[in-house]
Amino acid sequence: ISKIGVLTSGGDAPGMNPCIRAVVRTALYNGLEVVGIRQGYKGLIDNDMMEMKHRSVSNILNLGGTILKTARCLPFKTDEGMEIAYQNAKARGIDGLVVIGGDGTFTGALRFSRKYPDIAVMGVPGTIDNDLCGSTYTLGFDTATNTVIEAIDKIRDTADAHDRLFFIEVMGRDSGAIALRAGISCGAEAILLPERTTAIDDLIKNLKDGHMNKKSSSIVIVAEGDKNGVWDVAKAVQKEVKNYDIKVTILGHLQRGGAPSSFDRILGSRLGFAAVNALIAGESQKMVGLQANQILMTDLEQALNHHEFKLEPDLLQMMDILSI
Ligand code: ADP
Repeated sequence: ISKIGVLTSGGDAPGMNPCIRAVVRTALYNGLEVVGIRQGYKGLIDNDMMEMKHRSVSNILNLGGTILKTARCLPFKTDEGMEIAYQNAKARGIDGLVVIGGDGTFTGALRFSRKYPDIAVMGVPGTIDNDLCGSTYTLGFDTATNTVIEAIDKIRDTADAHDRLFFIEVMGRDSGAIALRAGISCGAEAILLPERTTAIDDLIKNLKDGHMNKKSSSIVIVAEGDKNGVWDVAKAVQKEVKNYDIKVTILGHLQRGGAPSSFDRILGSRLGFAAVNALIAGESQKMVGLQANQILMTDLEQALNHHEFKLEPDLLQMMDILSI
């Protein structure tokens, strides 16, 4: 390996910048050249790339988003688009790629690398959704969860002052990871997860019981991937629960932003460092991830196998017990 290209792709996540910084500086330390590719795979196709030096990544540890920008790039899904990307990468002398993103990004990376095996690829799990196999945590998940907690704590204040019942939708696509952690951290009365079916009748009963037990406010967290959907749940409950004033809040894209937490800065640094060292060691088509506080590699194909990813059973078990 002599020249590494680094890109961020798909949904942005806090922690991507610390990771870019680690990739650049680890590569330079090892005598490699580094190219920053703008807007994910789009930059490869449009030839929008720049040489990265030590100072290119100064003062970015604390920045949310990604200095390389990210994009969704449909042409990269076509054979023609991939060929252009390959020719541009080769013309620059890139022989190793670090791709920071989620499952779509990895699907593209795996296809690309199978077609053009002379460019090695390493994936770094960067998504707030925490939905990849092979890493207990993905980059951005911790920061996003902290952002959600901060927002819900504030909502709790107004809920409490007015005897209100809030239904709060949080991000995570098909994963309930943010909802579960935020729910336990904020003492949500109920957490609706895509991984678990909640009967609306049971939810209504619990909320009524809570009111009888002198709860002065109630927060129900609804993961965006929940089958019922936040509006339908809120409407169904409103019909049955008269003594509460019901409000719906969709937290939306604020969950994507903000300075990365300590955890995400360290994770981004560790994963970027490991990805470059893996490329130097001759690895390809793998993802670096955190498992039992160690950085380990997983085949990209395996990392894409969502169905093996499970929420922590003890958290699921305690979520109802602790919210009484
Ligand atoms: P994420 O990486 O966060 O899951 P996306 O699903 O939007 O985000 O994927 C990011 C990008 O990865 C896409 O815009 C596209 O350029 C590329 N990509 C996704 N799926 C494929 C695929 N099947 N083949 C080639 N490239 C893909």
